[in-house]
Amino acid sequence: MSLSTHHLYVHVPFCRLVCAYCDFVTVGGRGADIASYPDLLLAELAMRPASGHLATIYFGGGTPSLLPADRVARVVGAAIDRWGNAPTEVTLEANPSSRETPDWAGLRVAGVNRISLGIQSLRDAQLQMLARGQTADEGLAAYAAVRAAGFENVSIDLIYGIPGQSRADWREGLNLVLALAPEHLSLYALQLALAPDEWAAPPRPGALRWRKRMVPRQDDGLAAAQYELAEEVLDAAGFEHYELSSWARPGFESRHNSAYWERRPYTGIGAGAHSFDGRSRSWNERDLDAYMARTKAGERAMADSEQLDEPTRAFEAIALGLRRVTGLSRAAFANEFGTDPVERFAAAIGEGADLLEVDHDRIRLTTRGRLFANEALVGFAP
Ligand code: SF4
Repeated sequence: MSLSTHHLYVHVPFCRLVCAYCDFVTVGGRGADIASYPDLLLAELAMRPASGHLATIYFGGGTPSLLPADRVARVVGAAIDRWGNAPTEVTLEANPSSRETPDWAGLRVAGVNRISLGIQSLRDAQLQMLARGQTADEGLAAYAAVRAAGFENVSIDLIYGIPGQSRADWREGLNLVLALAPEHLSLYALQLALAPDEWAAPPRPGALRWRKRMVPRQDDGLAAAQYELAEEVLDAAGFEHYELSSWARPGFESRHNSAYWERRPYTGIGAGAHSFDGRSRSWNERDLDAYMARTKAGERAMADSEQLDEPTRAFEAIALGLRRVTGLSRAAFANEFGTDPVERFAAAIGEGADLLEVDHDRIRLTTRGRLFANEALVGFAP
C-alpha cells in the first residue's frame, strides 16, 4: 500500500433491536429514516475532501444490511466518483435474521465483496442469553445465502465469555463455525462494563439493568481460557491470528481494519463516525436526529475534533501496533518519532516484562499480554 492510501468508513446506525451489550452508535426501529439516510450519506460525502487512493470501504453499524442494495450501490458509486478509483475491498456488516434478509445478490452487484456476518453463536441458549433476536438456524441460513450469492470473502463474528458458556460449548461453537469454512473470524469477549461517559448518562436503562444482572455471572478466568483455546483450535485449522480479536486464512486479513491499526488516514461518514488524517481526529454527531438535521441543512455534522500532540501520537502508535500479533516495528517508530521505543518506554517495557517481548526489530505482546492487553499498555500512556 502506498502512503497515500485512503479508507472510507460508512456508519449505518439502524438496528431492528438494540442489543443490551452494545456500545455502538445505534437506534432501534426508525424504519422511516432508513430510506432517507443514504441521501444524507451522499450529501456528507460531497462535503468531505477526497484525497489519496481509495483502498477500502467499510459499511459498519448498527446493521448496514438493513439498507436496500440500490442505496448501498449509490454510496459505493459516489465514493468511486469522488476518489476517482474503485476500492479493492468493500465490506458490509450484516445480521443473520430471517426478519431482515438482505438482497445478497444486489449487494454484490453494488460492489460489496466482503460480508461480515454477526452470527455471534450457533447455540440458541447463548443467543437467547444475549437477547440477539436470531436463532442458530438463521445464522446458518444467512451464511448459506451469502455463499449462494457468490461472496468469496466472508467473516464471522463470535462472542465468548457469555455467562453459562463452558469451555466445551466454546470449542463446539468454534468447530461448528470452522465447518462453514469462512475466510475470517472476529472473536470478541462479551463486554459488560460501560464506558465512563455512558455510566454518567446511560442511554438505555433496560440495558444497564441487564448488564448489572450479568456481571456476577461472568467468569473472567473462563473467558481467558476460551481465548487461549481459540488460539489453539484456529491455529490448528490453518488460520493466522493477526490481531487481538482477528483470525484470517492467509491473504484474507481485513484490509480496512488493518488500516486503523497502521494509523492510515480514513474518512468516516454517518452519525457518530470518526475520521483521522494522520495528525488530527474528528467525529460526527452521535445523535441521529442532530446528524440528520445538520446534514440536511447543508453543513457537516461534526461534533468535535482534536489535534493529536506528539505524546498522544506516539502512544497510539504503540497501542495500535501492539494490537497486531506481529507487534510494531522499532525502526518504523524511530523513523517517525526520532527514538527507539525500547529506549523511550524502557520503564513501561520493564514493568510489563511477562506481557511484552522485544527483539532486535519488534515489540509484541506475549500470549499472556494478549489476554491482558490493557494492563500491558498502562505504562505507555502519556
Ligand atoms: S445488532 Fe450489533 S450493532 Fe445492532 S445493537 Fe446488536 S450488537 Fe449493536
